[in-house]
Amino acid sequence: DKLKEGLQKTRKSITEKIDQVLVSFGKVDEELFDELEEILITSDIGIETTMKVIEDLKEKVKDRKIIDPKDVKGLLKETLKEILEKGGNEMNLNTKPSVIIVIGVNGVGKTTSIGKIANLYKSQGKKVLLAAGDTFRAAAIDQLEVWAQRVGTEIIMQKEGSDPAAVIFDAVQAAKSRNADLLICDTAGRLHTKKNLMEELKKVSRVLERELPGADRETLLVLDATTGQNAIAQAKTFSETSDITGIVLTKLDGTAKGGIVVAIKSELDIPVKLIGVGEQLDDLQKFDAGEFIEALFS
Ligand code: GDP
Repeated sequence: DKLKEGLQKTRKSITEKIDQVLVSFGKVDEELFDELEEILITSDIGIETTMKVIEDLKEKVKDRKIIDPKDVKGLLKETLKEILEKGGNEMNLNTKPSVIIVIGVNGVGKTTSIGKIANLYKSQGKKVLLAAGDTFRAAAIDQLEVWAQRVGTEIIMQKEGSDPAAVIFDAVQAAKSRNADLLICDTAGRLHTKKNLMEELKKVSRVLERELPGADRETLLVLDATTGQNAIAQAKTFSETSDITGIVLTKLDGTAKGGIVVAIKSELDIPVKLIGVGEQLDDLQKFDAGEFIEALFS
């Protein structure tokens, strides 16, 4: 399937190396753990997370009296799955309407992801409305409109330079009057003016709280998997501006840096909720820890 295909390079950089090490060792010893540690560190899982994983692995080996190196692989899968599953990866969007705010720097695949998310929920029979809240760039509004047409959803937009909070206000009124199930709000992605962006996101958030009190809301940060540790840095910065409820990790297809999924969850404690595995409308999947680990290790 798409996920397995997309994770091919990551599998090469992690799983194949781990397999090689495990077959070359006669017993489970400190040296084996050192080798595994090195593979994990160089695979974008990150140092901090690798240390945690190795510790956990050692404990499991001891508790279960594992002596055959080949049995270590199953334990490693278990450990990684536990990290990824903790706290759940489900989207919480039960009210009508509910809201998704999408944040992220330009170029990570934010617009594409909004189109894909709209498509995902529309295909489940939901009425979706888009709000073109990135008013900073005319191109952003135009691109979102193209996606709205492609998906077949309505879009609320104003001209370039208008107040994003005003666009969101309009969109909320439209969502109510048109009986929408889900309102997806784009936001500006210019992190270099962090203070402005922070103000803008806060204002948008206030409008939503005031106009849709009690509505379920997801704030999704879009990160580009191909940027590896840089994605972690972006997540840390955006955490200062918003309460992020989940990550959309794009471009997992064709990158060897898929290990970043584990680092994001372990270092930032933000669950990956959706993953992008291609450029087409249906190349977005709900993240499932078990499926991910199986695709990576099979
Ligand atoms: P934005 O500036 O963040 O809104 O980024 P765009 O949505 O315009 O996407 C930037 C580029 O990334 C486009 O060429 C997209 O087709 C591509 N892209 C987005 N998501 C994915 C993905 O999951 N996989 C791949 N391969 N490309 C993607």
